[in-house]
Amino acid sequence: MLRTIAEGVHTHQSELLANNAVVVQGDDGVLVVDPGLTEAELVCLANDLDGQPVVAGFATHPDWDHVLWHPALGPAPRYSTARCAARMSEFRAGPNWRTSAAEGLPPEIADETPLDLFGLLTALPEDATEIPWAGTEVRIIEHPAHAPGHAALLIPERGVLVAGDMLSDVLVPNLDELNETNDPIGEYLLGLRLLEAVAGDVEVAVPGHGSPCGPAELRDRFEQDRAYVLALREGRVPADRRVGPTAAPGWEWTTDISIEQVRRLAERAARS
Ligand SMILES: [Zn+2]
Repeated sequence: MLRTIAEGVHTHQSELLANNAVVVQGDDGVLVVDPGLTEAELVCLANDLDGQPVVAGFATHPDWDHVLWHPALGPAPRYSTARCAARMSEFRAGPNWRTSAAEGLPPEIADETPLDLFGLLTALPEDATEIPWAGTEVRIIEHPAHAPGHAALLIPERGVLVAGDMLSDVLVPNLDELNETNDPIGEYLLGLRLLEAVAGDVEVAVPGHGSPCGPAELRDRFEQDRAYVLALREGRVPADRRVGPTAAPGWEWTTDISIEQVRRLAERAARS
């Protein structure tokens, strides 16, 4: 079921992980961002488009739950940042990419998640500032924090920020720790600053997971994510409503993620 969050902007949420796909109305069809997750949910989303063609796709970042697609959504180009597309094509070039991708799926939906079109993305130029399509301006805000090539989307005329895996009410910040040379904490704080800098006129923010929110809660979420990251920097599991007994039902594992992040950051510090 599509839920309208602003004029010409709708979301479609998955049952597991509460992934939000975003549909934006264009001149001759729609833009679909991060569609997911299962076969049935992707077909449901395609049916909800009511015969309108998908003229463009966008993947906010190179994680499995943001690079899915389904034949029912048609053959439109699926854009992403150059970094995100490079990462996915590298992944698909691996000898056993399908097995690796399947192993990364949550067991609950491993048999129901279509992988044929997994990660087939079209890189936008490094300096691209908006999605090339016939429709309202959709600005690309590429920033470090959660994953290489992560981009949020700002739709100024609709007052919408599509945040990717940032600013969630259920999922805690997940630092980008894929290599040993970056500064995951500093990058996350920078990512939050870059998003905050463009969020002044945002009426609705849509996180990759969880509930969309209005301006007041968005300010709280920036503060909450910053506090979370600063607690990690101090080597402690954050006191955060998304962690521990106050975690949303089904999201209790964010506590383990938090403990792990503290542990890995300590290990990293010990090595350097
Ligand atoms: Zn995600």
